[in-house]
Amino acid sequence: MNADLVVVGSGFFGLTVAERCAADLGLRVLVLERRDHLGGNAYSEPDPETGIEVHRYGAHLFHTSNERVWEYANRFTAFTSYRHRVFSTYKGRVYPMPINLGTICAYFGRVMSPDEARALIAEQSGEIAAPRNLEEKAISLIGRPLYEAFIRGYTAKQWQTDPRELPAEIITRLPVRYTFDDRYFDDVHEGLPVDGYTAWLERMADHPDIEVRLETDFFDVRDSLGGVPVVYTGPLDRYFGYAAGELGWRTLDFEREVVPTGDFQGTPVMNYADEDVPYTRIHEFRHFHPERDHHPADRSVIVREYSRFAGAGDEPYYPINTPGDREKLSRYRDLARRESGVLFGGRLGTYKYLDMHMAIASALTMVDNRLRPHFTAGAPLTGGGKDE
Ligand code: FAD
Ligand code: UDP
Repeated sequence: MNADLVVVGSGFFGLTVAERCAADLGLRVLVLERRDHLGGNAYSEPDPETGIEVHRYGAHLFHTSNERVWEYANRFTAFTSYRHRVFSTYKGRVYPMPINLGTICAYFGRVMSPDEARALIAEQSGEIAAPRNLEEKAISLIGRPLYEAFIRGYTAKQWQTDPRELPAEIITRLPVRYTFDDRYFDDVHEGLPVDGYTAWLERMADHPDIEVRLETDFFDVRDSLGGVPVVYTGPLDRYFGYAAGELGWRTLDFEREVVPTGDFQGTPVMNYADEDVPYTRIHEFRHFHPERDHHPADRSVIVREYSRFAGAGDEPYYPINTPGDREKLSRYRDLARRESGVLFGGRLGTYKYLDMHMAIASALTMVDNRLRPHFTAGAPLTGGGKDE
């Protein structure tokens, strides 16, 4: 294919760029993907033994309040009415998560009204005035006892970094509610793709002017691409040959098991807050799709999730973002700004934790603000830009 644009990576960011550029701007787009399948980390597949859909790179729950993203996603898939709920096991008892009035009443062993619970938490969180890190932020939101029960051990297992070294934003992803609302997400729209993530992602790529080339690493073929503009969604530090050092990532190990029961834990996700339980959570994938009737009655697929620092050869999943990482990042951003003909996007390309709806939104913005002006009016294409 004689491409007008090369997209490196076929995750939600790369496929959104490819789809818009082909369908809306009339461009021929070549998507290079290192793995043997498209879709990036949202990829899912039927477990070979049970047929239950498993998300290979960790459970993915779609939610958004962005109307443009919701409308766009619905062009490629319908969504089920799934609403995500999570429970947490701590010292042999089960509590709803994120922390809500149900969690607070259960933990302190008495009935409290919303006002009583607020007063109690205010008393327990009063010690922190201006939170500077995850630990301080968590204590300021929920007080020390709940922090020590539900956050400290889990976060230690998940990040293997002192919570005082972690940015406060990580914990603000979790809402705290003084009602019995135990939904995990606050967003207006939520659901799972009716026929799975892979079907959704494949439909995005299904355009005569999009070619997805699998098992092709950009760095092996870049010299043969000529001067074609590139949207790069691979790791930012790798693009620059790690010139400013390696950015820190956390990876996950997934231990999949087919268990001889039709229901292992009665819910899709059980978190384990105790530090001496080595995994952070167990997913039971059949519960993501209670509407499906082909699941076996006597077997189920569970996945235990373990977290650790990513080493060479590991999948980079979550940016750690220590102060040292942020310093390296600013050097890479300077390099990216000076790189001509290449735009950087997505989770790996910007070293930002992006949910799927954020990756899609940011790709749509890149098309609007950078690619359309370039291809329709000749605006220059350089790597930086505040929207990416
Ligand atoms: P990716 O999906 O990572 O895609 C990047 C692609 O680039 C990959 O396929 C990679 O193989 C390819 N690539 C990299 N380097 C090269 C190269 N040199 N050459 C060719 N190809 C290359 N979001 C939610 O909204 N809800 C969730 O519940 C949720 N859960 C998550 C759970 C986990 C464990 C993880 C890691 C993420 C989760 N996310 C979730 C985030 C979601 O995965 C991302 O928003 C989404 O994957 C971002 O898409 P992307 O295109 O930026 O990156
Ligand atoms: N968290 C926690 N206990 C829990 C769930 C989450 O301490 O039971 C903390 C943890 O630090 C985590 C952060 O809250 O990194 C954000 O949680 P979220 O579920 O958004 O993280 P993800 O599952 O996407 O890694």
